Amino acid sequence: MVNATNSEFKQLKVAVIGGGLGGMAAAIALRRAGHIVSIYERRDFRLEVGASISCAANGGKWLREWGVDIDSGRPTHLMKLVMRDWDTGKILNNYSLEEYEESWGIVTLLHVPSVSREWFKKNANVCRVDMHEMLMQTATQEEGEGIPCSVVIDHIATACDAEAGTVTFANGETISADLIIGADGIRSAIRGLIGVTPDIKSANQTCYRCNVRREDIQKLGLMPDSTDPAIQFWGGYTKEGLSQYYKIVMSPCAGEEIVSFYCFMPTEMTNHTKEGFQFAEVPVEEMIKGDYSRLDPQCIGLLENSVDRMPWRLYVHQPYSHWTRGRVGVLGDAAHPMMPHQSQGACMAIEDAAALGLIFSKNYHFTRDVRKGLELYEAIRKPRATRVQAASARATENLNERIGFSSLSAPEKALAALENKLTVNEMNDYNMATHVAKEAPAFSL
Ligand SMILES: Cc1cc2nc3c(=O)[nH]c(=O)nc-3n(C[C@H](O)[C@H](O)[C@H](O)COP(=O)(O)OP(=O)(O)OC[C@H]3O[C@@H](n4cnc5c(N)ncnc54)[C@H](O)[C@@H]3O)c2cc1C
Repeated sequence: MVNATNSEFKQLKVAVIGGGLGGMAAAIALRRAGHIVSIYERRDFRLEVGASISCAANGGKWLREWGVDIDSGRPTHLMKLVMRDWDTGKILNNYSLEEYEESWGIVTLLHVPSVSREWFKKNANVCRVDMHEMLMQTATQEEGEGIPCSVVIDHIATACDAEAGTVTFANGETISADLIIGADGIRSAIRGLIGVTPDIKSANQTCYRCNVRREDIQKLGLMPDSTDPAIQFWGGYTKEGLSQYYKIVMSPCAGEEIVSFYCFMPTEMTNHTKEGFQFAEVPVEEMIKGDYSRLDPQCIGLLENSVDRMPWRLYVHQPYSHWTRGRVGVLGDAAHPMMPHQSQGACMAIEDAAALGLIFSKNYHFTRDVRKGLELYEAIRKPRATRVQAASARATENLNERIGFSSLSAPEKALAALENKLTVNEMNDYNMATHVAKEAPAFSL
């Protein structure tokens, strides 16, 4: 029998390396499970990314479970996905999310992570809480179950002994912990320190992100429906000489006060090579070029009046050989970086965090053997995250592979399953607690 009695539960000292979305989620999950958690972050959070982030029900349900004050993030509740023609903006497809809450018990949400906080300080009278702040608040506040987590900034992890359970930082400090979670993102150091050699190649597509203010949209008189609670797409499929790598993803966020854009294009059109998000504002001409000349004039009009234009260079990672070693496990982008086309990267990091919270809870023996618990974590999480990673790569080539549109192009659920497409049902019907309970006996001590 795997279930442990309360007396067998051992409170763990946990070190989370990286205080991004996944690190904060892991800290909350492990705090709720009864552990003492410290988060070590390389910087001071002033430079968070100000792009929109959609949080589907498979991620949102855990935020609710952990008692995160979701409304404090001023979420936009999405009502539809709209597919538009690149040249004309004509609506080609429409996937309604009206019944999403009834079906999955939670609305699909859209938030803005931090820099927008700085942006709002500069541009508006109110300072809003964003998704990252919302998670950090839940992790560190007195209220709520468990011991408040501590956050230690300006700590860059440079070395790690997975067997001994120690991490050393660039400032020379070394800490020890029973459980170490590498949540240090796409260029993870912890991943390398546990012996993973990533197989990475440049993606065929790259991205720029930017924002347009609602007041500017109103002044311009362009696309009044851009602030509707929807994600709208242009392009993303081949058409009359247009590459599928041209794609726009537009959605309102921050209480509909800004409209956030992801602008994709073939990689050869950028000079940026460093993976991930860069804090370097680019001129509008760098973003609007090539076949952007034939983009829907309404959309181009908005992009010409955008602010916060910054590159987000994309690389494709093959699934990693392993995610854990000794007392160390990686999660989120450190474990399974994916193309952004399923809007699931952060949701997968939240699910990773949830798995850790379940495995190292009072219901199991794994607080007595962290290594076994981490083996179970990898067994639970890797197949699902790898499947989403692969579906995200497929959606780079064809927008019809995106969750939501995948059900429209194959209306019968059975047909979608036959084509092995990722569907909303597959993402949201999943019951992780049952999965952990089923697999745990094979990893029992
Ligand atoms: C264009 C684009 C759009 C996206 N849109 C969505 C979306 O709509 N929905 C969604 O679910 N996901 C989306 N994602 C994915 C999502 O942003 C990521 O998957 C998510 O942020 C990963 O969280 P993380 O905690 O693993 O990494 P991060 O949030 O990147 O956090 C990593 C943290 O570790 C810190 N760190 C790094 N190295 C060290 C070190 N050596 N020592 C200490 N700290 C360190 C960093 O400073 C950072 O704070 C998108 C991604 C892209 C590229």
